[in-house]
Parts: sequence; C-alpha cells; structure tokens
Amino acid sequence: MSPDGNREGRIPLPSVDQALAMVLGRVVARSPRAHVLADALGLVLARDALADLDMPPFDKALVDGYAARSSDLEAGDRRLVLGELLPAGATPSRGLGDREAAVIMTGAPLPLGADVVVMHERTHRSGDFVVIDEPSIKPGQNILRRGREARAGDVVVERGRELTPARLGVLASFGCPRVMATPRPEVVVVPTGDELVEPDSAPGPGQIRNSGSTMLTALAVQAGARARALEIAPDRPEALRAALERGLDADLLIVTGGVSAGQRDLVPASLEALGVECVFHKVRIKPGKPIWFGVARPRGDRPGTLVFGLPGNPVGSLVGFLVFARPALWLLAGRPGNAFARSSARLEGPFSHRGDRPTYFPAVLTTTSTPPVARPLEWAGSADLRRAAEADGFLAFEAGDRDYAAGEIVPFLPMG
Ligand code: AMP
Ligand code: MG
Repeated sequence: MSPDGNREGRIPLPSVDQALAMVLGRVVARSPRAHVLADALGLVLARDALADLDMPPFDKALVDGYAARSSDLEAGDRRLVLGELLPAGATPSRGLGDREAAVIMTGAPLPLGADVVVMHERTHRSGDFVVIDEPSIKPGQNILRRGREARAGDVVVERGRELTPARLGVLASFGCPRVMATPRPEVVVVPTGDELVEPDSAPGPGQIRNSGSTMLTALAVQAGARARALEIAPDRPEALRAALERGLDADLLIVTGGVSAGQRDLVPASLEALGVECVFHKVRIKPGKPIWFGVARPRGDRPGTLVFGLPGNPVGSLVGFLVFARPALWLLAGRPGNAFARSSARLEGPFSHRGDRPTYFPAVLTTTSTPPVARPLEWAGSADLRRAAEADGFLAFEAGDRDYAAGEIVPFLPMG
C-alpha cells in the first residue's frame, strides 16, 4: 500500500477540497418548523417575516419635553400655553390649540397639529406657560414618524438570516411570536476504544481519559447543534455495532477512534454492516488522515444520518471536525457551508513545513488586521491537545517541503 493510497493503494486519496465537496454534496438541510422566539436564537429563518403593523404605529415623541407647532415659534414670542399631559401609553384627546404645547413623554403619540418636540432641558416654565429657550426649531425634530421603521407588510427579517438577539427583538415587535426556522441539527458522539476511561476516573495502566466526547459535543454545540455523547464503546464488534446503531438516530453521528488500519480499528466495517454507505475513507490531510465519511440509509422522510469516523487523536479529531463536520452542520442548519473558505493569515516569521500532506498547524493570531498576523505554536503533533487548545485556529500549509517567508499569506481555519 502506498503511503497516501487507499486500501488498494491505486486510487489517490481525495484532497481536502475534494473530500469536503463530497461531504457537502450529501447534506440535506433539516426541514423548517415553527419555533417560539425563546427557542430560536441562532437558528436560520426559513420564511420572510412580515410586519403586521406600521412601526411606530403613530408619530411619536423621541424625548421628554413639549409637543408644539413650529409655526407658532417663528415670530419673537417664545411662550406657549401649557396643554394636555401625554405620558407614554396615552392617546391625545384633542389636537393642539392655538399657541399651545402639550407636555409629552418619550414614546407618546403626538397630538394633531404638533410638528416638533422640544426637549424639556431646553425650556423653562413661567406660570401657566412654557418658554422655549431653544433658539432654532426645525420641523420634525425629535419625532419618529409613523411607519419610519417599517410599514405593515414590509419584510422585517429576510429568510436565510440567522436569528440574532436583535433580530429576535424585531420579530417580537412586529407581531411574529412564532417563526418558521431550520431546527438545530441533532448530533451524537460515540467514543470508541478499550483504553478509554471517563474524565472523572483516574486512568489505570495503559488507559487514557476520554477527552474526545467533551470536546466534540462542545464543538457541535458551538456550531449550532444539539449534541450528546453516548458511553464509551469497546473495541468489540457486537458491542460497537450496538452503540453505533443508537447513534444513527441523529442527523449527524461522530465516531472517534478505531478508523485507522489497526487490528482493533473496527469502526468502518461496523458502520458498513449497519448499511452506512462509505463515501470516503482517508483524506490527504495532517493531522487526521484516517477520516471516514458515510451516509446511512434514509429513514422514512428523514435523510440518512451523516456519519463521520474521526481519528482518536484529539487534534486529529478537532481538525477533522472543523474541516468537515462543522461545514456539514452549518448546511444542515440552513446556513452556507463554506463560511471560512477564504480566511487567511500572514505569517509573523519564517516557517519550515516538511511533509507530504497538507498540514493544519495550530497558530495564534497576534493582530486584528486583515488578514491577521499568525504565529505558529510550539506543538508536539496530533496528540498534543494542550498546545492546540491555545490556538485561534490552524494555518493550512500545502503538501511538500517548503520554507515560508515572514509575511507570506497562508489559508487559515479559525477555531470558532
Ligand atoms: P485510534 O484512532 O483509535 O487509533 O486512537 C488514536 C489515539 O487517540 C490513541 O492514542 C487513543 O488512545 C487516542 N484516543 C482515542 N479516542 C480518544 C478519545 N475519545 N479521547 C482521547 N484520546 C483518544
Ligand atoms: Mg482505538
């Protein structure tokens, strides 16, 4: 078998771009359904949301002060008769009288005839009058006209938009307490390996703690999914198959470990025995070459679960997730899948890359410029999660031995 060949050694391994295209080509976004606004943060809106009323619904005061008629103030006399009191929530009982000013609060509707609001601080009282001290009064000042924000029937949030806190506020104010949005993808993580113990245990001889489940469920949540991990599956065919079968309820299943070519690497065969179609096994990438991707059979009207077999090595699974599973989750959630496709960074210093595979190398960003400047970390390779955890992302060096100069621009895969 060639070092970069598949099991037969004849067909070259797919590149990252080819493999990602194969993944994205198999993703079907989840079907939209109704959500109350409290459950919709971060979801993608599936239908345009329309205003059910003009906003504001009336000409409204933007400051506390006096609603007046600007023409009354054109001549020298700055005194106006005190009129009606209009707190927010009140409706004027009548229009403004001659040379009259209504006492108005922020948010209250203007009385008919008023075309300015003068700030309280720019006036003073004199008996039954208010004296306008502000020298130049401009018609329309301190007033938000009816419909200035939106008219009834206007699209206030377009379909395809992510529901941010501010957009949820817009939906609340325009009479959309429930919206059609693409639901969060459901992710299940199945950790495999006889050597693994859970984080609350002290590892015995030869054992290590399962960090993968914690990290990968958190990555999935960060990518907008709902995620849970199943218990550690052993390297035994029947038990492994039972665990994997439970994971096939999800929209996306991540299996860690057991995907290389070792005698105990039972994951690919177990998945295939469960009817999961292998799309690729191994990619030209470092870390994380032994990466498996497949698609389970559709269930009823639900598309088949997308299944990723990621390497057990923590940084291999981190990079595998960021490169392949995260864009798949974005597409499942109704977003574009290639959000970081064109990110890049400028090398802070020279860097020598050696290796026959494209390499994702952890780096910190040291500026906020465009592109940012990146400094590769001292890193011990794919088992060194501790150093990689300090990175802002990964510099993607191309395959082949090459000395990069300071200032060269290199593709960059952001962590978050
Ligand atoms: P594997 O991909 O199963 O050959 O595992 C590669 C390396 O990653 C081995 O050193 C495993 O012990 C380690 N490993 C596998 N699964 C996990 C996990 N869930 N958390 C941390 N390390 C793991
Ligand atoms: Mg293993």
